Amino acid sequence: MRQMSEALQHDIVIVGGGGAGLRAAIAVAQLDPNLSLAVVSKVYPMRSHTVAAEGGAAAVIKDNDSFEAHCYDTISGSDWLADQDAVELFVDEAPRELIQMEHWGCPWNREPDGRVSVRPFGGMTIERTWFASDKTGFHMLHTLFQTLLQYDAVKRYDEWFATKLLIEDGRCQGVVAIEMRTGQIRCIKAKAVILSTGGAGRIFPFTTNGAIKTGDGTALAYKAGVPLKDMEFVQYHPTGLPGTGILITEAARGEGGVLLNKHGERYLKDYDLGEPLEVDDPKHPQKRTMELGPRDRLCQAFMKEHEKGNTIESPFGDVVHLDIRHIGEKKINKLLPFVRELAKNYAGIDPVHEPIPVRPVVHYMMGGIHTDIDTATPMPGLYAVGECACISINGANRLGSNSLTKLLVFGKRAGVAAAKYVRSCGKFDDSSLESQTASEQARIAAIFNRTSGNERIAAVRGDMHHAMESGAGIYRHDATLATTCEKLAMVRKRLGNIQLDDRSNCFNTELTTMLELENMVDIAEAVAHSARQRTESRGSHQRTDFPERDDQKFLKHSMAYRTEDGTPRVEYLDVVITKWPPAKRVYGEKPIESGA
Ligand SMILES: Cc1cc2nc3c(=O)[nH]c(=O)nc-3n(C[C@H](O)[C@H](O)[C@H](O)COP(=O)(O)OP(=O)(O)OC[C@H]3O[C@@H](n4cnc5c(N)ncnc54)[C@H](O)[C@@H]3O)c2cc1C
Repeated sequence: MRQMSEALQHDIVIVGGGGAGLRAAIAVAQLDPNLSLAVVSKVYPMRSHTVAAEGGAAAVIKDNDSFEAHCYDTISGSDWLADQDAVELFVDEAPRELIQMEHWGCPWNREPDGRVSVRPFGGMTIERTWFASDKTGFHMLHTLFQTLLQYDAVKRYDEWFATKLLIEDGRCQGVVAIEMRTGQIRCIKAKAVILSTGGAGRIFPFTTNGAIKTGDGTALAYKAGVPLKDMEFVQYHPTGLPGTGILITEAARGEGGVLLNKHGERYLKDYDLGEPLEVDDPKHPQKRTMELGPRDRLCQAFMKEHEKGNTIESPFGDVVHLDIRHIGEKKINKLLPFVRELAKNYAGIDPVHEPIPVRPVVHYMMGGIHTDIDTATPMPGLYAVGECACISINGANRLGSNSLTKLLVFGKRAGVAAAKYVRSCGKFDDSSLESQTASEQARIAAIFNRTSGNERIAAVRGDMHHAMESGAGIYRHDATLATTCEKLAMVRKRLGNIQLDDRSNCFNTELTTMLELENMVDIAEAVAHSARQRTESRGSHQRTDFPERDDQKFLKHSMAYRTEDGTPRVEYLDVVITKWPPAKRVYGEKPIESGA
């Protein structure tokens, strides 16, 4: 590896150039243009996963909607594990942020009378999901990126890969990062660091997540002693394309798409998700019924249908059909053009004429770096926001379209909080930051130069995937989770035996893939151990050996702390309840027992 050169210095370093990172950067630049701000991203910012978001972003805008309703939907969707103070703040700020996006140029779809269009989304009692066709994430990220470009003072480190947090005096004071073009490992000092590194769906083999979603920032915080909250809650999305895992957005169901089993039946009617609604009836109040139920329930229903033998065999595992034919070509082309394009290119069918084969796919991490409502972690100087952070508004199950809005509301909040912290804090001891960087360089050089190992990245990663998929999927049990934990411990041991072939310094993606794998193993262990210790069923975490929700014992966030040998120690933290005491989740008309 290349020798290290002089340290770089900024007031604030943001690691991550997705929606959350860019919104935080704009907030800092607007609040105080004199602050020196850097955005570090392992890919060019427009390639961050936010660009792939399709369906839309939620915020109350319609006259017949209310803040109360958005809060309630989010909290019941979370199976009462969301912190209600965070939800209230989120819901209140959400419309202002989406209007702000409009002013920065985001092309929201509109009604003929000029008002912003909103579409129904899963688990939301009313249409409140703003959208830009079915490429919402692309338009939002573009809007944020072009807005950030106005601020000359912001220094971007595109294609720099952060490998370590620099901690001294009990404070986070920067990061170590590889400049991927040259292979140099650099010390970037800062008074505050904001992590916005996205999710970690890649710890599973079948996911909608881009290849870069390996939980790097989450793992860096974890290694630095910051707890990871609610890691057992992994969201499966009910409609991924078999084989690739490419997402068919919930908007397809929001616009009227239905799910059919092999008998052509809308099987969700059998799963306490209410009665079928007439599609396209504008007078019908939107209820959280059937296909517009929450994602956890829909994925569980798929698994039950599979057990009953009602799913359809495909070369890439069993599927059901998502039928949007009745919506009609004109509306599909206008509102769901990307769905049509994806189905044609990746499933070989035209959804105007044929149903789309779909199956549940890992989509989103509800858990992440523990923060308070201002995005501050317990470590002074370290903030986290976006999918890598757990604030928490998602609890045990996120509602679709809350995430994009969350990036904005809490992204801004992170920028403001970090800027205020930096302006108020004095000088700290930072004498060891360069030697810490040298140690990190030595650690990476040892991996790079290893000549004795007989393991390959792909094989070890494949075993991690298998461990997660087989034991920590939609339904879990103590026995399966115990096996997963054991397999992951073996996977961790094998990391030290992986040998790399690529000796180049220029864009050595084999090296960064190796570092990503190390990060993923940390995250996978946090997920599996937290899941094993939560002996109840709640939201996306379904234990066949503990099928009921247990508020007595588990109306609590799990907090995973990394220990020396890598396995986590799990503690618990009370959930914040403000106005909505725990109750049964109700979809359609009939109350249903949680955990059913
Ligand atoms: C296919 C798909 C569709 C979705 N659709 C919707 C939707 O319609 N509505 C909704 O609300 N949500 C949706 N989501 C979820 C939502 O898009 C994501 O949760 C959100 O975009 C994450 O944004 P982020 O800013 O936290 O991270 P990302 O956009 O993932 O960005 C992470 C950033 O961190 C950087 N980074 C990571 N590791 C490192 C490192 N080691 N060093 C340097 N930089 C690093 C990356 O380069 C990147 O810039 C969807 C998700 C997927 C996968």
